[in-house]
Amino acid sequence: MLEIKNLHVKLEEEDKQILKGVNLTLEDGKVHAIMGPNGSGKSTLSYVLSGRDGYEVTQGEAHLNGLNLLEAEPEERAAAGLFLAFQYPVEIPGVGNMTFLRTALNSQRKARGEPEISAGDFLKLVREKAKSLKIDAEMLKRPVNVGFSGGEKKRNEILQMAILEPKMCILDETDSGLDVDAMRLVSDGVNALRDGTRSFLVITHYQRLLDHIKPDVVHIMADGRIIETGGPELALEVEKNGYAALLDKHGIAQ
Ligand code: ADP
Ligand code: MG
Ligand code: MG
Repeated sequence: MLEIKNLHVKLEEEDKQILKGVNLTLEDGKVHAIMGPNGSGKSTLSYVLSGRDGYEVTQGEAHLNGLNLLEAEPEERAAAGLFLAFQYPVEIPGVGNMTFLRTALNSQRKARGEPEISAGDFLKLVREKAKSLKIDAEMLKRPVNVGFSGGEKKRNEILQMAILEPKMCILDETDSGLDVDAMRLVSDGVNALRDGTRSFLVITHYQRLLDHIKPDVVHIMADGRIIETGGPELALEVEKNGYAALLDKHGIAQ
C-alpha cells in the first residue's frame, strides 16, 4: 500500500512551494489516476516519490508498505517494488538495453535477498516479453533509449515494467506525446500486469488514456493538492466540462 500524508514540497533552489498538502492512499491491486491542469504538481509528486534531487520535503510523509520513500535509497525503493515510468525516459549512452535490464533485475533481486538470474533464464525472459511487446532483437542491443523514437522509448519503458514486475507502478504521461498506437501499448502493458495485487498510479493530462486503463479511483490535482477524488465518472466529467468549475469551487485562481 502507498500512503502519502500531508506532503508539502518546495523547490530546493527557490522559495517556491509546489506541493501543498497531498494526501493519497493507494491500496494493493488498485489503479488510481491523477488528472489535473498543467503545472498543478503531478510530475513533481512522481519525482519526489522517486527521490529525484532538487526538491525539499517541508512537511508530511510517504510510505510504501512501511518503507519511508522520502528517505529510501534507490535500491530500497526498487526492492520494495516501486517502478517509475517517466514522461521523458532517460538515455544512457554506452549501456546496452539488455545489460541495463539485467542489472536492474539483479539489483532488485539482490536487495530482496534473491539469487541472480542466470544468463540463460534472463535471455529467455527478455525474448518472451520482447516478443509479446513486438520489440525486435536489434532494439535490445542498442544503448538504452539513445536514438529511440518516442514510440520505441515507450515500448522500452513497458518492457522494463514487464521484466521487473513491480508491485507499484507510477506512470507519468504527457498524453501530447502519445499517439493512438503508443496509448494502446501503454494501456495493454498496464492491463497485462494488472493481477489484483499490483497497484498503479497513472498520471495523465487527458481522459483518453483512461478509456483503455480503467481506473478504480480518479483524483484531480490542482495547485499542489488533490482537490477531488471519485470514480471513473470524475474523469468523464472533466473531459466534458474542463477544470474551471472544479477550480472555482475550491477557490483556486485560474
Ligand atoms: P504538472 O506535472 O502537473 O504539469 P509540475 O509538477 O511539472 O506540474 O510543475 C508544478 C509547478 O512547479 C509548475 O509551476 C512548474 O513550473 C514548477 N516547477 C516544477 N519543477 C520545477 C523546477 N525544477 N524549477 C522551476 N519550477 C519548477
Ligand atoms: Mg506539466
Ligand atoms: Mg507533468
